[in-house]
Amino acid sequence: MKAMLLKQQGGPLVYMEVPDPRPDDQQVLLRVLACGVCRTDLHIIDGDLPSPKLPLIPGHEIVGEVIEKGAKVDQFAIGDRVGVPWLGWTCGECYYCQTERENLCDMARFTGYKIDGGFAELTVADQRYCFSIDDYYADIDAAPLLCAGLIGYRALKLAGDGQQLGIYGFGAAAHIVTQVAIHEGREVYAFTRENDVAAQEFAKQLGAVWAGPSTALPPKPLDAALIFAPVGALVPAALQAISKGGTVVCAGIHMTDIPALPYSLLWGERVLRSVANLTRADGLEFLSLAPGIPVKTHSIAYPLSQANEALADLRAGKFSGAAVLIPSMD
Ligand SMILES: [Zn+2]
Ligand SMILES: [Zn+2]
Repeated sequence: MKAMLLKQQGGPLVYMEVPDPRPDDQQVLLRVLACGVCRTDLHIIDGDLPSPKLPLIPGHEIVGEVIEKGAKVDQFAIGDRVGVPWLGWTCGECYYCQTERENLCDMARFTGYKIDGGFAELTVADQRYCFSIDDYYADIDAAPLLCAGLIGYRALKLAGDGQQLGIYGFGAAAHIVTQVAIHEGREVYAFTRENDVAAQEFAKQLGAVWAGPSTALPPKPLDAALIFAPVGALVPAALQAISKGGTVVCAGIHMTDIPALPYSLLWGERVLRSVANLTRADGLEFLSLAPGIPVKTHSIAYPLSQANEALADLRAGKFSGAAVLIPSMD
């Protein structure tokens, strides 16, 4: 099969022929229909995240068709369309797995990081971590739900029920979370890079009541803020924007250092926390909610062989929404 391979951190990915993967007992063999490109892929390629499998096929927002099943696969049939997320395997036995927090599993293996992912024509995935994809979604539109959607949704839940919600960094996750938050009756305030008028317009089109630069204060204090941009300086900015008792959730897997900040920004029972990975329960909950809202994703298609271009465009903030690789376009 053809795949985009990371040979060493620092990149770039190399488009090349590699052996077809073979499913073990619990795995399905998937023909990849679409695979989203996530900021985490950039962190893995750049070396911000340590010790990936090497060589590695990145990609953890996979929509695929089951073309072969391992001996123990009982949840999916040949021809089914399934989604493969970041959480690829957990031990089931550690303290976290035993307390419904498999997202924190000590032994967890992550798709497109510790195990090969979906920047390829074929992939294998453990059936126990795969999701069914609702018919409402085309392949390209379903892909961003699998990380941007799931992790965004988990971040939103951890932010509490507050009405006024700030979102810092208006990319793939933000454009999905905004729709969920508005559906829940909240007001969304979108914070973008200083002169990113396109992202601010995009946020307003999706229903944000206010959009401005991350250096600005919102017109009224926020109950909670989600930070999707990997920029530590946004932490004091977001703490300054929330009211007493409010929560700031850092939703990225990597962030630059958080600058020193006066304790008064945290005082008043303000909460600062991160969100890590996802549980399968988050995935089932979000993927059953999404078509009913309905969450619509804004996806930009790239051929599989153009993964480096998609990653460069993501890094440069060249598009609004989510980039998705489509192997059949090559
Ligand atoms: Zn575990
Ligand atoms: Zn991701």
